[in-house]
Amino acid sequence: MIASAATQRRRARAAAAAVRAAAPAAAPVLHPEWRAFVGRWLEAAGCTVRDAARGDWEVELSPALRRRWRRQRVRLVFDPSRPTLPRGAWFTAPGSGGGRKILEAALEEPLVTRRTALAQVPGAPAEGLAPVCRVRGLAWAAPRLGPVRYERRFAFHGVVTRWGGLPAQESWVILLDADGGLLETAIGSALPEVRPREGLYQIADALDPDGRARMTAAAREHFARLLDEREREWERAVSRLRDDELGRLGAFFSARIEEEEERLRRRSSNGEEGDLEQGDATSLKLEWERRAAEVQQRWALRTELRVWGIEEWSWPVADLEQELKAGAVRVRVASRVDVARGRPALPGCPSCGAPAEMLVRSRGAVACVRCAPE
Ligand SMILES: [Zn+2]
Repeated sequence: MIASAATQRRRARAAAAAVRAAAPAAAPVLHPEWRAFVGRWLEAAGCTVRDAARGDWEVELSPALRRRWRRQRVRLVFDPSRPTLPRGAWFTAPGSGGGRKILEAALEEPLVTRRTALAQVPGAPAEGLAPVCRVRGLAWAAPRLGPVRYERRFAFHGVVTRWGGLPAQESWVILLDADGGLLETAIGSALPEVRPREGLYQIADALDPDGRARMTAAAREHFARLLDEREREWERAVSRLRDDELGRLGAFFSARIEEEEERLRRRSSNGEEGDLEQGDATSLKLEWERRAAEVQQRWALRTELRVWGIEEWSWPVADLEQELKAGAVRVRVASRVDVARGRPALPGCPSCGAPAEMLVRSRGAVACVRCAPE
């Protein structure tokens, strides 16, 4: 059947419209996190970044990067659809020449920055511990928030790469206290809900190299534990896919081998020589083994963790005290507040000391639900 001229014109218009509609979507788009990473890294490395026309950046390089790249400044272009670059400018996508230069420099050693977490005002909720710890048969009195002080903390930024099966990458941040104890873990490139300012407020001395080595060792241990957990999850996901693939391979080869054996039976019942066919079944089995080993190898999990940044933090904290009342019973409960987030930690149970999400009245005392007798 031949389409009428009108139908053909309509089809041509529809096709052209489809091309126009598809064109913007087909243009490459840079992940916004990449630009944020480049900006953070350049500033942390001591460069000055200024906005230039068309979304470009004009970067005044730090002395170390001037030596490394043998230039004073560089213009970074992020727009992938720009047909030409200004003279000397670098197109800066993750796989581009400029992007690779930046990544290579960033990979060499973890950056160390010093920051202060800005305090929230007010530093704690007006109801004190009530939002984090429920009570039964008791009532909270007004909270007393102590003065804000600043303590040293360390954040380690890492990227974990999974090879094998479906390669993937994740950014992790862990926050440690000054003794190397783990306070927080976050997936992503920054600690959530913190407004930072450059410099270490109220902490005069930066940590000495020995202290930093101790913190780095502690961070490695925490990362290793996290990685173990993550690997177990990945292993479960990957082994399902691997077993599916091995199952398909197995179904294919066993069907082929069965066909071969069937053919062999028919021929030998006809009195023909079957050595060659027997050989075919054997080589099929060998081929199956070889392919299965390849599949195992391809899905074998391998991970790599790279620490790319260390932040030394000055972090605002305060003590919080609050009384629990029930008739004549008055018990004082204490906790600490993360003033950067305005968030109190769970208070310790007055009976057993464990962090308590709920406190109840128990035989004239106050206890958590675990240590209160039913
Ligand atoms: Zn308890």
